[in-house]
Amino acid sequence: MARVYLDWNATAPLRDEARAAMVAALESAGNPSSVHAEGRAARRLIENARGEVAALVAAEPRNVVFTSGGTEANMLALSPSTGAGPGAAACGRLLVSAIEHPSVLAGGRFPAAAVERVPATPSGVVDLAALARRLTALAGEGTRPLVSVMLAGNETGTLQPVSQAARLTHEAGGLLHVDAVQAAGRIPCEISALGADLLTLSGHKIGAPKGVGALVKRDEALALDPLVKGGGQERGARAGTENVAAIAGFGAAAAAARANLEQERADLERLRRTLEAGLKSISPDVIIFGAEAERLPNTTLFTVPGMKAETAVIAFDLDGVAVSSGAACSSGKVTPSHVLAAMGVSPPLARGAVRVSLGPATTESDVERFLDAWRKLFQTLANKRDIAA
Ligand code: PLP
Repeated sequence: MARVYLDWNATAPLRDEARAAMVAALESAGNPSSVHAEGRAARRLIENARGEVAALVAAEPRNVVFTSGGTEANMLALSPSTGAGPGAAACGRLLVSAIEHPSVLAGGRFPAAAVERVPATPSGVVDLAALARRLTALAGEGTRPLVSVMLAGNETGTLQPVSQAARLTHEAGGLLHVDAVQAAGRIPCEISALGADLLTLSGHKIGAPKGVGALVKRDEALALDPLVKGGGQERGARAGTENVAAIAGFGAAAAAARANLEQERADLERLRRTLEAGLKSISPDVIIFGAEAERLPNTTLFTVPGMKAETAVIAFDLDGVAVSSGAACSSGKVTPSHVLAAMGVSPPLARGAVRVSLGPATTESDVERFLDAWRKLFQTLANKRDIAA
């Protein structure tokens, strides 16, 4: 029987448009920095892609810096020198929400002592009152903050109050970086409407290949602190000959995601409603994390008391269904998720959290296959619970 892939937050299968663009780009012989016709042809592929990626977040193409992925874009953004220059101080403190991806929690190029975590509420949303208190204190000391708040969580899918965080941050004279890796292509994500100064995107979450991403600036004048130094590529922000094929694939995936956003979003919402209704009818004591908050249309993180996520993921896998135990980067490790810990979920319950994430190619029959597998697995768990009782 065909496999059912429900781990789109870990990575999305390649979109047909991205594959076609990449194959075509692999035939392009030139170096995009060369002035001859071959070089100019390669340059055109990059600039077309830049336009498409910019359009996905309603930014200016010149403000898109291509990177090797979301992790590198986060590293590029998170530097004390970001936004520094004549008349603008360096950022003395990095405030990150406690539910960020590890590539943000790591603090970029800030010394560990300058990185602070802002708590989240039990529904998985950054605590704006706590953020406001820290920003007021830092403004009082004359310290300029860089704040990083993701648009949507990779584990729970909860949406964060980014524009409110932007207002608070700007009032305190700081800059806001938004990791929009999970949100882009799934919900509208316009850099100016969000109020973000910097926005991170990753290609492979929207159907481009793995290993390409972008950091997008709202204002051209905002200074970046290059992580990869050398040649003048990417307007000096990221040296090295560009990965032309991956960038072309990213552009094509961004265009497809933008063109289909409303339809895909409505389809995902409908399928997720069916999935969650099925979970509740099969297992009335199911807990869906972050369900009280606004969430991405495609993500469900759930558990039932007594379940172990590693065992459940293996059982689903044997039944032909790919899901994940929390974030992909932490799969394989049995440590409970930092996101659920920040939400105040007890470690035994957090250890049972299974993430199901849908994508544009998910069908009703995929959701049914998932629910059939869950029915069997839940019965086994329920029998065990009966024996234990
Ligand atoms: N940020 C978030 C929210 C993510 O979910 C991920 C990947 O899982 C990343 C950043 C890292 O992106 P990449 O895999 O392109 O390095």
